[in-house]
Amino acid sequence: MERCLHMKCQCGKVRGNVSIGSKLFHNRVVCYCDDCQAFVKHLKQPHILNAYGGSDVFQVSASQLTITQGHSEIGCLTVTRGGVHRWFAKCCNTPLGNTLNARWPLVGLLHHCIEEDLDKMVGRPVGSVFCKFATGEIPKEVKGPWSHKQVAAHLILKIALWQVLRKGRPSPFYLQGKPIIKPYCLADKGS
Ligand SMILES: [Zn+2]
Ligand SMILES: [Zn+2]
Repeated sequence: MERCLHMKCQCGKVRGNVSIGSKLFHNRVVCYCDDCQAFVKHLKQPHILNAYGGSDVFQVSASQLTITQGHSEIGCLTVTRGGVHRWFAKCCNTPLGNTLNARWPLVGLLHHCIEEDLDKMVGRPVGSVFCKFATGEIPKEVKGPWSHKQVAAHLILKIALWQVLRKGRPSPFYLQGKPIIKPYCLADKGS
């Protein structure tokens, strides 16, 4: 059965819906990579990270997400040149999510922009990735049951399925293969 989650930035100007159905069409992981941490810190929202520097990311295919209001408030940056596209709400500096580029159907939404309780709606994160960048020893119960390799292998299968089913389009972040707003790069800004 299709259900709908609601997404919003902290001030409420940017809002969207995320349709969720079968487990095949979503995934929840915690990413500790330095790139995710730099994104959140640049926007001065460190409270979004867990106690070990992890970003709780809810991954869906792009066509499951619809932005319903605040399109003009959406900004995009990359931490490194050619890096992951990182989307945020300019109105209140809320990190919203990440995409690789227009060719990949995956959108990773930061869990704090989802209004519903994700634990109840989709369950706890299946595991953690890039733990070597964590800011401290991650307790087992926080890390989750799956290793980086298991999480990655599982996600690759889902992405392949989404690709076959053409779930990458329409994407709220790309139009005709191009980002809806040109990303700026933190490395170029020297920040
Ligand atoms: Zn806002
Ligand atoms: Zn990351």
